[in-house]
Amino acid sequence: MRVLGIETSCDETGVAIFDSEKGLLADALYSQVAMHSEYGGVVPELASRDHVRKLLPLIREVLAEAQLSLHDLDGVAFTAGPGLIGALMVGASTGRALAMGLGIPAIAVHHMEGHLLAPMLEENPPSFPFVALLVSGGHTQLVKVEGIGEYELLGESLDDAAGEAFDKAAKMLGLDYPGGPLIARLAEKGDRSRFRFPRPMTDRPGLEFSFSGLKTFTLNTANAHRDEQGQIDDQTMADIAAAFEDAVVDTLSIKCRRALQQTGLKQLIIAGGVSANRHLRLKLEAAVKKEGAELYYARAKFCTDNGAMIAYAGCQRLLAGQASDLTILAKPRWPMETLEPIS
Ligand code: ATP
Ligand code: MG
Ligand code: FE
Repeated sequence: MRVLGIETSCDETGVAIFDSEKGLLADALYSQVAMHSEYGGVVPELASRDHVRKLLPLIREVLAEAQLSLHDLDGVAFTAGPGLIGALMVGASTGRALAMGLGIPAIAVHHMEGHLLAPMLEENPPSFPFVALLVSGGHTQLVKVEGIGEYELLGESLDDAAGEAFDKAAKMLGLDYPGGPLIARLAEKGDRSRFRFPRPMTDRPGLEFSFSGLKTFTLNTANAHRDEQGQIDDQTMADIAAAFEDAVVDTLSIKCRRALQQTGLKQLIIAGGVSANRHLRLKLEAAVKKEGAELYYARAKFCTDNGAMIAYAGCQRLLAGQASDLTILAKPRWPMETLEPIS
């Protein structure tokens, strides 16, 4: 089965074609980051308009790359939520209409299920059941995964998501949006022992997270090291970035070990934009080993938003006989625990 995947939930237009026998045939991405960075964050109306401008050209591009025509497709998967309503509407209406015109089924995909299944696109993928750490711009969740659509939320952030915390800390250091990758790059040159930031909520039992306090800590540390012109020297910037990254990574590792202990499972997958973070991958690799478990993640370009994860997730659901009706489904809020299992 060949499925076209469409992702337009936020500021990335992602399109891909996944073949259940041959794997991923093509994928293309257009990021609106440059446009939004002028405003320091995503401007919803501009995002919707840019998806309209880019979606059809990207669909043509992946078809050409895979040397296929629209009539070679067996299904269309589109992200139906959670996300920005206007942005979601672009992918949902295009995907739904395309499938209807072609006389093939369409499937509404949950964006976080897409992220969660992205490691399945790699060689040597994990097998169910496993624990998933979803760390993205809008989510920080630990989920027990028994199968596709069988999700038990073990814990989540009570305030900011991990990616959001990276972006806000970056803003306080005067870095561009999105700041996660910029903090990570700075941190590589930082002295990780100069500042020590707290590891929020690790001193009590449970799998909940809280990252909002770290941005205050970042701001206070930055302000304490400004010169008369309000500038912070390069080394101090790098040291603060390293301390911040360490605090987030350490906190995530502690909770991941706890989740493995609590569930008795021996596989941890990490997904979402922050799972591209190299320091997180290294630290978790070591933490997971101490539990006698294995760590899995997607290649970096499939950690952040992309069409491949949507094509993959949609294909699994279509293969199981699921399909969406003719409603153009776009749900800005959509709890993942309400999804249907595939069998
Ligand atoms: P959600 O998936 O929750 O709806 P989103 O789609 O906006 O949110 P993603 O695209 O999965 O989020 O990830 C983007 C986030 O990942 C941003 O907050 C970004 O700063 C962060 N991020 C990306 N790369 C890195 C990195 N190397 N280190 C830390 N954070 C990173
Ligand atoms: Mg994004
Ligand atoms: Fe995302």
